[in-house]
Amino acid sequence: MQNENLTIMNCHHCGFESEKNITTYTIDLGEVLVVIRRVPCYQCEHCGEIVYDADVFSNIEKIVNAAKTLKQEISIVDYKNVA
Ligand SMILES: [Zn+2]
Repeated sequence: MQNENLTIMNCHHCGFESEKNITTYTIDLGEVLVVIRRVPCYQCEHCGEIVYDADVFSNIEKIVNAAKTLKQEISIVDYKNVA
């Protein structure tokens, strides 16, 4: 039933299967707080641990780097508008 794609991930903490989900990624860089909404992720059903795949994570890094240059105190970005 869950074989429709091959991107099923297992939790790094407990080894349970992680399901596709959408989350809000927040990082506080001191001068800048970056909030990225609607980020695709995998979330463990067992412990709630969130994992991002490599593509998503590199997009997050790009968004965070772009937000740093804006020097706004808070940057709220919609993932879909950037990635
Ligand atoms: Zn887990």
